[in-house]
Amino acid sequence: YPPLPHLRSWVDIDGRALRFNIRVARTRIPKKTKIIAVVKSEAYGHGLIPISKELVQSGIEILGINNIDEAIELRNAGIRTPLLILCPILAPDAPFIVAHDIGVVISSYHEALWLNEAAERQGKRAIVHLKIDTGMGRLGFMPFQFIQEMEKIKKLSSLSIAAICTHFSQADTDIEFTEKQWLEMLKFRSYFKGFPIHVANSAALWRKSVYACDYVRIGLALYGIAPMTFLRRFLKPVMSWKCRVVLIKDLPRGHPISYGASYKLKKPSRIAVLSVGYGDGYFRTLSNKAYVLIKGKRCPIRGAITMNLMMVDVTELPSCKVGDEAVLIGTQGKESITADELAKLSGTISYEIITNIHANLRRNYR
Ligand code: PLP
Repeated sequence: YPPLPHLRSWVDIDGRALRFNIRVARTRIPKKTKIIAVVKSEAYGHGLIPISKELVQSGIEILGINNIDEAIELRNAGIRTPLLILCPILAPDAPFIVAHDIGVVISSYHEALWLNEAAERQGKRAIVHLKIDTGMGRLGFMPFQFIQEMEKIKKLSSLSIAAICTHFSQADTDIEFTEKQWLEMLKFRSYFKGFPIHVANSAALWRKSVYACDYVRIGLALYGIAPMTFLRRFLKPVMSWKCRVVLIKDLPRGHPISYGASYKLKKPSRIAVLSVGYGDGYFRTLSNKAYVLIKGKRCPIRGAITMNLMMVDVTELPSCKVGDEAVLIGTQGKESITADELAKLSGTISYEIITNIHANLRRNYR
């Protein structure tokens, strides 16, 4: 850092913002509550290893991951923090998981059996978190099966039940449904005695303090992206995504722009070509919809976004020149573009915008 001049598109990662967001999250939870920081999908596109190192240094207790490939990467990078795999495992994963004392959120008796068998062989105990499907319709034991399955799992002598959990499907948008899921979870209260509980994702952290329980499993808020708009002022975005102006040209009124000529200039215009496209992970559905920042000004995208280039109107920006930095996500001067803004314009969610940024693009950490 600063980026090398030849970089066409890159992502700046602000470690201070990450530490700030961790502190903010801590203010939302009781002292005894531990944080499971979700770092799957390359820490939501921010970079698995550098982000995990920073989180661990900041006192995060567990790293939430998707699969054993991520676990291997973390262990190879010397990160010894407890890991929790949030996704179902397959039988061949079990020996590695047990050997490295990795926790697994399980939703089935067969996962419990695989882990128990591997643990028996290794003379160890496998760590499992039992999940209940309280309304997400994805992972977890169905509530009507849960007690029976838990009793069976309790009998597996090489397993250690470390927690019981559920996942909210609409904590960001539907308070009532979230509460319903919570109440469904509480039905099993008498079975929870002695077992830690976790239910909260980032959005739930700001819904009700009781959701904090023994652990929270949070991702988005740590990266400074607000799950609900009103939280924006409490968090600092960790990621900025940038590229450069690589060509400027003056075009006459009526001139078409890009493939399919979806935009025709309404007046003589100055068009800047930027060094980023859908091949780098910038959604093509943002064509003719989104803006970028150049010299602190919003410049509208004109025409279809192409694989590695896109065009913006800089007519109102006579000082714009080749080599200038353009901000796709982030702040420049007084203007900001959030992942959420791009998500809304392209009909998706901020998670998809940030995890879609190509892994090849350099991440600059500071
Ligand atoms: N828990 C589980 C099971 C998840 O799948 C995720 C994210 O996908 C999280 C927690 C973190 O959610 P958020 O990033 O909204 O905090």
